[in-house]
Amino acid sequence: MYAFEYHSARSTDDARRAFEGFADARYLAGGQTLLASLKMRLAQPDALVDLGRIPDLSGIRSFESTHLIVGAMTTHAEVAASDEVRRAIPALTTLAGGIGDPMVRHQGTVGGSLANNDPAADWPSALLALDGAVVTDRRRMGADDFLLGLFTTALEPGELIRSIEFRRPSRAAYMKFKHPASRFALVGVFVADFDGSVRVAVTGAAACAFRCVPLEEALTRSFSPDAVREVHIDDSDFNTDLQATAAYRANLVRVMASRAVSHILR
Ligand SMILES: Cc1cc2nc3c(=O)[nH]c(=O)nc-3n(C[C@H](O)[C@H](O)[C@H](O)COP(=O)(O)OP(=O)(O)OC[C@H]3O[C@@H](n4cnc5c(N)ncnc54)[C@H](O)[C@@H]3O)c2cc1C
Repeated sequence: MYAFEYHSARSTDDARRAFEGFADARYLAGGQTLLASLKMRLAQPDALVDLGRIPDLSGIRSFESTHLIVGAMTTHAEVAASDEVRRAIPALTTLAGGIGDPMVRHQGTVGGSLANNDPAADWPSALLALDGAVVTDRRRMGADDFLLGLFTTALEPGELIRSIEFRRPSRAAYMKFKHPASRFALVGVFVADFDGSVRVAVTGAAACAFRCVPLEEALTRSFSPDAVREVHIDDSDFNTDLQATAAYRANLVRVMASRAVSHILR
């Protein structure tokens, strides 16, 4: 690990000011990715601006019964245990409860996960399927505008995620086939039905989470596991690695989508 300055911010203004005072600062959320990068010397910021003591970045609330708003520093464990989330969008408690292990869930944050945009992370699929938006200290971005590619988002240097908005569907489910060690998604599929208009997002299969239009069209026509089985999944951009080939991941997309629909209909 290289030497760096540390600043514990007390407000978003304080965090922004501190960030701008250094040449190459980084915001620190739960440190689940960032500290590992520093330890492995993959990153060399000159300062870490800790967001952990900014109260208004945490918490969960419903907005006009149509949206759920989650503070950027809310941990996965807080989402998994939240009655508010269970009432509004129960699929999100499943998603959050299936992330990593207890330590990762208690330290890792929703904002940190989305800022990092790991290709196998769970939250990007929820953001896409639930027609979500990321609210920063500068603007509000829809999921498609925010998630740009492999570990890449539309965040500009120093831009701070304040909260994440999710639209409440009439019904939804998230299913993932987990990597057995990390529990990251080999493939995860989030299915959300908005009164007959279905959105489906896939994570783990390609460089970045994406909406799967053929599955959305098939499920909007007929919301059943059978409707999924015959859908062709284009795997030309899918990942092949030690764990799974692109073709295997394409099959998992169908299987996880079918399981999500069965779960919703049970
Ligand atoms: C062993 C292990 C298993 C895991 N398993 C899973 C899994 O199954 N599924 C899954 O989805 N994830 C998984 N994760 C990732 C984990 O869920 C964390 O959310 C993720 O690592 C980000 O960590 P963090 O929230 O602590 O953010 P940090 O590591 O603190 O930050 C990550 C990046 O986001 C930036 N950042 C953080 N917060 C903000 C903000 N508010 N505004 C702007 N930028 C910000 C930081 O500057 C940094 O660049 C796993 C991680 C580990 C270590």
